[in-house]
Amino acid sequence: MKTVLDWSAYADAGMGDAYADIPKHGGDFAKAIAVCINSRRCEDETAKGVMCPSYRVTGDPALSTGGRVRLLKAALNAELAEAALAEPELARAMDLCVACKGCKRECENNVDMALIKSEYMAQQARRRGFGVRARLFAGLPRWLHRHRTLARWLIRRRNRNPWLARLSERLLGITATVPLPEPSSAPFTAGAPASAPGAAEAAETERPELVLLVDTFARHFEPDIARDALRLLQVAGYRVHVATPAATDPEPTRPLCCGRTYLAQGMVEQAAAEARRMLAALLPHARAGRWIIGLEPSCLLGLRDDYLALGLGESARELAERCLLLEEFLAKEIMAKRLQLPLRPAGASVPDAASAKVLVHGHCHQKAVGGMKPVRRVLKLVPDLDFDLLDTGCCGMAGTFGLEREHAGLSRQMAALALLPELQAEPGAEVIANGFSCRQQIRAHSSRRPRHLAQLLADALAPPTP
Ligand code: SF4
Ligand code: SF4
Repeated sequence: MKTVLDWSAYADAGMGDAYADIPKHGGDFAKAIAVCINSRRCEDETAKGVMCPSYRVTGDPALSTGGRVRLLKAALNAELAEAALAEPELARAMDLCVACKGCKRECENNVDMALIKSEYMAQQARRRGFGVRARLFAGLPRWLHRHRTLARWLIRRRNRNPWLARLSERLLGITATVPLPEPSSAPFTAGAPASAPGAAEAAETERPELVLLVDTFARHFEPDIARDALRLLQVAGYRVHVATPAATDPEPTRPLCCGRTYLAQGMVEQAAAEARRMLAALLPHARAGRWIIGLEPSCLLGLRDDYLALGLGESARELAERCLLLEEFLAKEIMAKRLQLPLRPAGASVPDAASAKVLVHGHCHQKAVGGMKPVRRVLKLVPDLDFDLLDTGCCGMAGTFGLEREHAGLSRQMAALALLPELQAEPGAEVIANGFSCRQQIRAHSSRRPRHLAQLLADALAPPTP
């Protein structure tokens, strides 16, 4: 079996262990599956955390992380392993993995089922090819770059016309039951990065230089998040560059993209091509000692984790070591006693001054990299802010999972497990969710209007003294 991802990190996994039960076929990919020690912790429905949303909703052991492992092992032990991967029970189990990475953090032995799913999808695509919907979702960054005005017009029409929504459900398999995110009329464009207001001060105080990675979702759908993050970091006195393609880039006018939309559909070659553009653009910054700051958890996790499996060599590791989420960077600077943010008390920073309470829903990938402790540390900076970090598991949108006709019902059930009841219990509170898909899910199934942490902090900034 020829794998498409680089599984060499697992080359020594289970070697010499008589109980490792490594499948016959699949090489290092099989070893990545066999790291499961069958403890069945992933079948504990009462456990806190994320793992495993589809199992929590259905109670079907085949839909737990370990259940998928058992099915995958059986397929890779079959004589015709590649054909066995297409068995309906395994195909269903993999289809209902939302690639949340909950298992990568919470499983006893850190099974990375999200990455295993990417390999699985790529193997399946070798036999069947990719469908129209998969191409549409995967190619989103390109569609938005080339045809943003048309895409915006079509999506707005579809969202306002139930007949068009039903038509797109029938033709494309995109559910008619939730609205699609609408591209902004004014996407983010980089200003003059080197002339950041804090530049001189940054040099004086030896604050690190930064590179802000504006992802496809912030750029095209919610550009205020990127603008607020840029302003926040500049007010704090950092010199901020906005990431742009390298001079040698074959598509120098197309903004950088992490490749997540491709990897999520199993289009590994296209994801690797996006990753190479990113490396060419960001490695010189990383080597110059700059931190790469990301806003969208799934994009940054792509750079920090998934790139290591794309066969990009040691440079992927170099880049990974310089990538941080905004909250991780701010928390690091708090610890180093370098962060100076002039923030007003909470009553003045929350738009609805009657409610200073803030509820925080973490993105699964944010939790997978341990990104919630930094959020707590950063929110403590805002005087008088009353906030809760919710134990809300997975929101259920999971990239495009909740937009897919056959998954929309399950996606709604995932949101109803914990997230929606928690929000209903505090109807007046502001909601912070750093994941684009989480915000979409909350908007789709409630009247709440969640924002990114960068927006809350930017609103809390005290006005400059005259
Ligand atoms: S928690 Fe991890 S190691 Fe235990 S059964 Fe589940 S997948 Fe396997
Ligand atoms: S990635 Fe998420 S949905 Fe998939 S097996 Fe792991 S915990 Fe379950």
